[in-house]
Amino acid sequence: MGWNSALENLPEQELEDELRRQMQAYGQRYDVQTGLLNYQSFLGALSKLIRARAGRREIALLWIDVLNLRREFALWGTKGTDALVAQVAEVLRHVVGPGALVGRFSARCFLVALEGAKLVKSDRRHIQQIADALGRVRAPGSRNKVETAAGVAFCPSDADSAEDLARFASLAASRSGYLKSSHVLAFRSGMNHHLMRDHLLEMEMHKALEQKHFSVFYQPEIELSTGRVLGAEALIRWNHPEPNYVTPSEFIPVAERSELIQGIVEFTLTTALRDAQRWRDMGLALPLIAVNTSWSNLRREDFAPAVRARLLEFPIAPTKLHLEVTESVLFDDEDLFAARVRQLKAIGARVAIDDFGTRYTGFNVLKRVALDTMKIDRCFIHGIDHSRDMRVLCQTIVAMARQLKLRTVAEGVEEPGELDALRQIGCDAAQGFLFQKPIPADEMTRFLREWPQRYRSAGFASCLEPAKVEAVG
Ligand code: C2E
Ligand code: MG
Ligand code: MG
Repeated sequence: MGWNSALENLPEQELEDELRRQMQAYGQRYDVQTGLLNYQSFLGALSKLIRARAGRREIALLWIDVLNLRREFALWGTKGTDALVAQVAEVLRHVVGPGALVGRFSARCFLVALEGAKLVKSDRRHIQQIADALGRVRAPGSRNKVETAAGVAFCPSDADSAEDLARFASLAASRSGYLKSSHVLAFRSGMNHHLMRDHLLEMEMHKALEQKHFSVFYQPEIELSTGRVLGAEALIRWNHPEPNYVTPSEFIPVAERSELIQGIVEFTLTTALRDAQRWRDMGLALPLIAVNTSWSNLRREDFAPAVRARLLEFPIAPTKLHLEVTESVLFDDEDLFAARVRQLKAIGARVAIDDFGTRYTGFNVLKRVALDTMKIDRCFIHGIDHSRDMRVLCQTIVAMARQLKLRTVAEGVEEPGELDALRQIGCDAAQGFLFQKPIPADEMTRFLREWPQRYRSAGFASCLEPAKVEAVG
């Protein structure tokens, strides 16, 4: 009697029990949704492969994180994500070829082990091809491509146990995610170090926020046609016992990768609004107060309502609040960004694009997003007085901003010559050490009082003379 007919002859209850038993056995070994090995059995199979490793053959472990799975879920629900995951699994099976192990570690994380992946070019290329093939996948019904962060670790050069290989490949993948690199990043021993430092920094930041060890400094923004103070940008400082322990450029990116950035922006926003209100009460009202935000804030649906709540708490005209976001957010999700800007404008706030020029944002993208201000990154300002090419470039940026009806602010002006060049170009405003380094609120009060006198005596008064605007070219 064949196996099938033996099953057919089983009483209904026993057949059902048998099916359940088999399903359980399958679930213990495989990821039910994709049919790929689950993590435990993948590790088991990888250990076996490592033990059986012949001679000098290497094993490469590729760790792939699908970064936009959560967003696809928010947009399309399980139907969308199931389809996407099924496609990812299918592409992986197809592209890795027979003999490779393919597994799933968690909802968004996939693993591939390849044997014979010597550190020769063709094998490296194959590893990159796997990641590239995934990058072309689109979920049915969605126009978004799969975004991945991938890392690779090798046995025996990086590790000789399955668990360590997986750990190191995941470290490399998370590093590649931070770098927003589309290349598969190979593990390096220094990565442990970086991540440990980030982790320690994150814990310290938690404590510092709780214990209020942060403060806000201000840097004035000067209008070039009048020389008056247009406003101030709020910049966070960590009051660490060790001077210059970490700069915002070091700790803000770490905070952005965790929930900490919410607390930081909340703190800066509240402090800046409170100080702006204080200056107004002293008769030193500022036309604008600029606060830096990040994509992790903007992405949240409750961001605009939270800003509105703060504006009600410290009543200054909403139009005075300028929220700055770096240019790179436009590359993350243009549609969502445009929607968030609309929401912020609906509550009256203004939005500025920070560090403009560091990524190339085309006209079309900028046209879609109703921004108010463009802050030109200081790398385009530094030395502008000595380079005609840079002047022409800056002039083109200003001309583009004009067409888009955006106000321009030059960042990082340090030299009088740079200031002159910016006036000739027709830039609207400037910030930089030439006028003032960022200072605590009390010093800013003094600055606001003394500035009219100071700019005359420091020879900035030429700012007030009509400037000749150069033609582009
Ligand atoms: P950013 O928003 O572009 O701020 C301008 C940075 O340039 C500030 O650095 C400022 O001190 C520096 N700077 C101003 N004038 C000059 C100059 O003439 N020469 C030079 N070399 N530098 C100048 P800072 O305060 O270290 O902040 C660095 C970045 O950290 C900021 O860049 C911003 O992206 C971020 N950041 C600072 N505070 C906050 C905050 O409260 N929240 C968030 N989300 N990000 C912040
Ligand atoms: Mg800024
Ligand atoms: Mg900037």
